[in-house]
Amino acid sequence: MATPLQRFEEDWRAFERRHVWHPYASMSHPLPAEPVVRAAGARLRLENGTELIDGMASWWCVIHGYNHPALNAAAREQLEQMSHVMFGGLTHRPAARLAALLLELAPPGLEHVFFSDSGSVSVEVAIKMALQYWHARGLPGKQRLLAVRGGYHGDTFGAMSVCDPIGGMHHMFRHVLPQHFFAPRPECSGGADFDPADAAAIGAILADHHDEIAALVIEPIVQGAGGMHIYCPGYLKRLRDLCDAHGVLLVLDEIATGFGRTGTMFACEHAGVAPDIMCVGKALTGGYMSLAATLCTREVAEGISGAAPGAFMHGPTFMANPLACAVAGASIDLLRQGDWRQRVAGIEVQIASGLAPCRALPGVSDVRSLGALGVVELDRDVDPAWMQQEFVRRGVWVRPFRNLVYIMPPYVISGEELDRLTTAIAEVVEAFAAR
Ligand SMILES: *Cc1c(COP(=O)(O)O)cnc(C)c1O
Repeated sequence: MATPLQRFEEDWRAFERRHVWHPYASMSHPLPAEPVVRAAGARLRLENGTELIDGMASWWCVIHGYNHPALNAAAREQLEQMSHVMFGGLTHRPAARLAALLLELAPPGLEHVFFSDSGSVSVEVAIKMALQYWHARGLPGKQRLLAVRGGYHGDTFGAMSVCDPIGGMHHMFRHVLPQHFFAPRPECSGGADFDPADAAAIGAILADHHDEIAALVIEPIVQGAGGMHIYCPGYLKRLRDLCDAHGVLLVLDEIATGFGRTGTMFACEHAGVAPDIMCVGKALTGGYMSLAATLCTREVAEGISGAAPGAFMHGPTFMANPLACAVAGASIDLLRQGDWRQRVAGIEVQIASGLAPCRALPGVSDVRSLGALGVVELDRDVDPAWMQQEFVRRGVWVRPFRNLVYIMPPYVISGEELDRLTTAIAEVVEAFAAR
């Protein structure tokens, strides 16, 4: 009987299929996975030499493109110094510089930065901040959260508890998940005017339960993995007012939307709203490695720090990893040069016109876009293996989920590459309807 390493040497793909989990995947019936050997700009190179134009930015992350010289240089330079040291009792310039850069960009009022290793953990940290803040303020009854249907905030338990209760994993884990309040999803779409009736239900929950609610947790303007819904800025503005009126903290999850994706640096800028606590992740390192941060106001930080136990109770092993901080600093340096604004504005126009013909296709229920994000919603769930193969056959990388075919390409994508992406989407969606 061959050992694992022998079987790997013999056929690494067969070995991988048999032993390595993929996201949301079955180990007994794995879906096909394409072997990537290299990536540069907006292109992925497969083992067999095929080049794919990347429509996914590796799940919102790779905003400057793969293999970027400035990010490579930052990683190399930091690697020569140290790739990691513990953050307890030690500190380093890359973390301090990244905090300074984040606070330069962040919405007004945010003054403190807590680094962690992934988006989900930054949401856990945000939740703990909110709970600990009210505990410190002598209102320990405020220990529940308010969220909105259709949201996605990550896969760890605290984050899961504020994800959409139907689309999320609430049912399977209902005996261990804390029970929070859920308001209906905002009905207004991106371009629409805000109708105050849209926020009536959430207003009623806040009026009735504000003495139990620590924070409202929501993705600003775009609800990502929960359904790619784009809602009107007026709704978010109204939430800010409601939170202020009822003494509830506003936590904005900018993990998907942050760093320019929706056309503004942070999506909350569309509404002119600043949160009490904000989570960032995904594109923070330009997609080079995992790093996230939770930012908060002085009020929140001082509240937590001014009462027993006198410290915020969280501290990941890889907190503020220097390598990740150095690359994130270089990524924000690129953003500060400002080209992204024009690029995203150009992508926005091209996605809107490139996907518009999909509206007339059978099986399409909606087409929407904002910034460097475009979504074609179908009237039934896709067959992911079939669709993946159809896209790869056309030389593009698009990975639909549920009934959503969507793209959020790297900002460096060329007009011609983007054209190939939107053309492929129209073709594949049409072929899917005919199946
Ligand atoms: C991806 C995502 C998360 C979770 O981030 P991970 O790095 O996958 O843990 C949380 N919130 C939003 C809005 C996301 O898009």
